Amino acid sequence: MALTIGLTGGISSGKSTVAHMLKELNIPVIDADIIAREVVNVGEEAYVRIVETFGNDILEANGEIDRAKLGAIVFHDEEKRKQLNAIVHPAVRKKMLAEREAYIRRGEPVVVLDIPLLFESKLTHFVDKIIVVYVDEATQLERLMKRNGFSQEEALARIRSQMPLSEKKAHADAVIDNNGTVDKTREQLLYILNKWDVL
Ligand code: ADP
Repeated sequence: MALTIGLTGGISSGKSTVAHMLKELNIPVIDADIIAREVVNVGEEAYVRIVETFGNDILEANGEIDRAKLGAIVFHDEEKRKQLNAIVHPAVRKKMLAEREAYIRRGEPVVVLDIPLLFESKLTHFVDKIIVVYVDEATQLERLMKRNGFSQEEALARIRSQMPLSEKKAHADAVIDNNGTVDKTREQLLYILNKWDVL
């Protein structure tokens, strides 16, 4: 039985940093954000349904979905946001699971699903174990401002729009404290993987 690990955290808590370490260990990582972009590529089933629902006005000249335009529409309209999610979310889930199956068929003993909104999207039943990458709010704020060039206000608004990291931490099977150096984070990751007999 292959093990599926869910990797999650908050914005700028260090998920990508940990995902990169996992890939260096040759552990396959399936990135929900990448899949979410792939399923709305021109011609995909979700693309066709989005155009049917929202019309040609949300398309760029080359036929691709104008993400900013679509984002602006659903940002102000709860009903439309639900409609969009009802198209995109199942497509993302289906593709993630198909990719996981492909890895397992190839004999991979462990697959990681990197899902920033694992808890918010209620996807925890897809994984056997959950790793939460944790930082305290001051570190999160500082790293987010630096990485994205956000003001303190902009960064705080994004952090506070998510489920608190402390709550996510409480639902984790393992927590990586990423307040320290990258090396300290790698040490914790290796410890967890060893404990779970993955390495
Ligand atoms: P996420 O994927 O959760 O949004 P990232 O892995 O991109 O977070 O990390 C957020 C930012 O903080 C990035 O700029 C990254 O380089 C930096 N960072 C991550 N972990 C550390 C660390 N332990 N020490 C210093 N900077 C870090």
